[in-house]
Amino acid sequence: MRIMRGRFAPSPTGEIHLGNVWTALLAWLQVRSAGGIMVLRMEDLDPDRSRQAYADKLMADMKWLGLDWDEGPDVGGPYAPYSQDKRRELYQQALERVQATGLIYPCTCTRAELAASAPHADENHRIYSGTCRQPKLDTACQATRRPALRLAVPPGQSSFTDLHAGFVRQDISQEVGDFVVRRSDGVHAYQLAVVVDDAAMEITHVLRGNDLLSSTPRQLLIYQLLGLKAPVFTHVPLLIDPDGHRLSKRQHALSITALRSKGVAPEAIIGYLAYKAKLIDAPQPVKATELITSFCITKLPADSVVINSDDIR
Ligand code: GLU
Ligand code: ZN
Repeated sequence: MRIMRGRFAPSPTGEIHLGNVWTALLAWLQVRSAGGIMVLRMEDLDPDRSRQAYADKLMADMKWLGLDWDEGPDVGGPYAPYSQDKRRELYQQALERVQATGLIYPCTCTRAELAASAPHADENHRIYSGTCRQPKLDTACQATRRPALRLAVPPGQSSFTDLHAGFVRQDISQEVGDFVVRRSDGVHAYQLAVVVDDAAMEITHVLRGNDLLSSTPRQLLIYQLLGLKAPVFTHVPLLIDPDGHRLSKRQHALSITALRSKGVAPEAIIGYLAYKAKLIDAPQPVKATELITSFCITKLPADSVVINSDDIR
C-alpha cells in the first residue's frame, strides 16, 4: 500500500491564529494516525503579502505546539524546494501544458469592469461573466496592459466525495465562471500552484478548512487537464468567534503569540482544540502525540465551531 502523504500549506501573510492551528492539528493527526509523512509547504506565492519573518514565526509556533513535519523548507526533502516562491517555473510549465488544450485566454478586464459585471458580489466571490472569451476588438488598448490568463471552464456539473463534507457538486461555469490561472502581474494563481505542488509532492490526502471546499472543483479540473492523480480531500468545519465571524489574522487575541504571552501552555491550546474537535470529552491539557490513537474523522463536528479565547488558560 502507498504510504499516506499529507501537508500543511500555510500562507505566511500574518501571525498564525487558533484557526490555522485547528486545521494544522487535524491534518497532522490524519497523517500521524496513519503512520504517514507530513509535508510543510510555504504558500508564499504572493510577493506583496508574504513575509519570511511570518514564515519563520509560523514554523517556530508549530514546533512549540508539537506539530512537526518530515519535509519542509527548513529540513528539505525529496521534493524540494518547499516554498512556492522558488517553484514558479513549475507553475509556468504546467500553465503551458494547459494552454496546449486551447482553454486559456487573456483577460484585460479592469477591476472596475469586473465589479460592474457582478455588482452584488464581493471581490472574492464574483462570477466571471466571460467578457474576454471573445477577443476584444480594441487591440490597441489590449496591448497596453498585461492580461491575466483565465481558464475557459467547460459547462456542466462536477462532483467529488469529501471525507467530511460528503458528496459535493458544483457547476463551475455557473458558480464561479472562467477563473484566473495567472494574474496580470505574472503571479500564478493559488488554484494552479496548489495542484502542481500537491501532485509533484505526491500528496495523497489534503485536509484543510471548509472555506476551500468551493475551490476544490476548480482544482480537480486542473488535475484532469494536466492528467494528474488527485488526492483524497477532507474539508473540516471552520472555527468562528462568538459573533459568528471566521477567525482572521487581524484578530490578535487569537494569535498564538498573544496566547503564549498570556502564559498559555501549548498543551492547553491543543487540549482545547481537541475538545472542540470531539476527540476528548473535556478541555484538559494534552500533547498532540497523545491524540494520535483516538483520532477519527467521523468524530469531528458537522458544522462551524464557536471558540472563545478566554476559555483557553
Ligand atoms: N495556503 C492556503 C491558506 O493558507 C491553504 C491552501 C490549501 O490548504 O490548499 O489558506
Ligand atoms: Zn476580461
